[in-house]
Amino acid sequence: MSMDRPARLAATLTDRDLDALLVTHLVNVRWLSGFTGSNGLAVVGAAQDGTRLFLTDFRYLTQSAEQVDEGWERRITPELLPTAAEAVGAGTADSPLRVGFDDATLSVKDHAALAARIGEHVELVPAGGLVEELRLVKDAAELDRIRAAAKLADAALTEVLGRGLAGRTERDVALDLEMTMRRAGAEAVSFPPIVAAAEHSALPHAEPRDVAIPPGTLVTIDWGAMLDGYASDCTRTFATGELDPRDAEIYELVLRAQEASLAAVQAGAGGREVDAVARDIITRAGHGEHFGHGLGHGVGAEVHEGPRLSQRSEATLEANQVVTVEPGVYVPGAVGVRIEDLVVVTEDGGEVLTGLPKHLQTIA
Ligand code: ZN
Ligand code: ZN
Repeated sequence: MSMDRPARLAATLTDRDLDALLVTHLVNVRWLSGFTGSNGLAVVGAAQDGTRLFLTDFRYLTQSAEQVDEGWERRITPELLPTAAEAVGAGTADSPLRVGFDDATLSVKDHAALAARIGEHVELVPAGGLVEELRLVKDAAELDRIRAAAKLADAALTEVLGRGLAGRTERDVALDLEMTMRRAGAEAVSFPPIVAAAEHSALPHAEPRDVAIPPGTLVTIDWGAMLDGYASDCTRTFATGELDPRDAEIYELVLRAQEASLAAVQAGAGGREVDAVARDIITRAGHGEHFGHGLGHGVGAEVHEGPRLSQRSEATLEANQVVTVEPGVYVPGAVGVRIEDLVVVTEDGGEVLTGLPKHLQTIA
């Protein structure tokens, strides 16, 4: 666990004029402290203050002692938020405190409980996204974990494809993929795998059905593994036999858009600009309205994080960010194709972590 993460956060707090931050989102607690349990809270003080307080309950007494970095004071308590509220102090009328909380994840109920226990001269300030910002650029150890997760996911799909697609239900293939990843060591799936055949593939987030995959159609499979706290994310679309020329044409279009936008990924490129490369190709082919989502998203401790690649993105890519490039064309009631790679942004391009081929493969 990198020792400089809480220090980097403390510097951010100083910049934002915050005295402390209550870190309640577990992914951020893990990223900062190393703790992997299901109940934990971190209090980080601004640079001059130096507070590093980790709170969990009795169930995690031993685990937290093993996992949480040396630099943290650990406290075991049945009530995390009230204890944290007391720990930040009460401030004074002359020098009130500004304490940030994660407004993106703290529930309204928890916020009310926190407000009831916070000191008189403490202002609770919405401050979601501060840790997420620090998580955008990955360190070497994080990149290794994402590479390993992608490799595991690739191998699992290859194994599952060996058992065929046509005639199996979407649900059977999805469960097989999930089990294969878990058996290979994945701690979880990044998200429940999507397996969507024929007209069902026109739904970008289709749920696998108890319906047999027919021959002679397209099947979209979107899946990822969580390994050591890091996610992978990939999509491939396969043929199950000879295709309608319309379907083959859409596949080639998406492939062209995917390869062109992937080639546009590099440090300094804008999230909007990279999205536009794929979007222009798809729009010129007359399918602009069938590409209704952004081109990609960041991947790390969470499968969907920053930076975004889309027309609404204001992000500029930086080296060692990890993003997906996943254009799709979805023709309602007819067919859908999506092709997604996971890529590390580098100074002069990208390192593609997905090792699977992208030309149209037939898996009967
Ligand atoms: Zn995906
Ligand atoms: Zn994705």
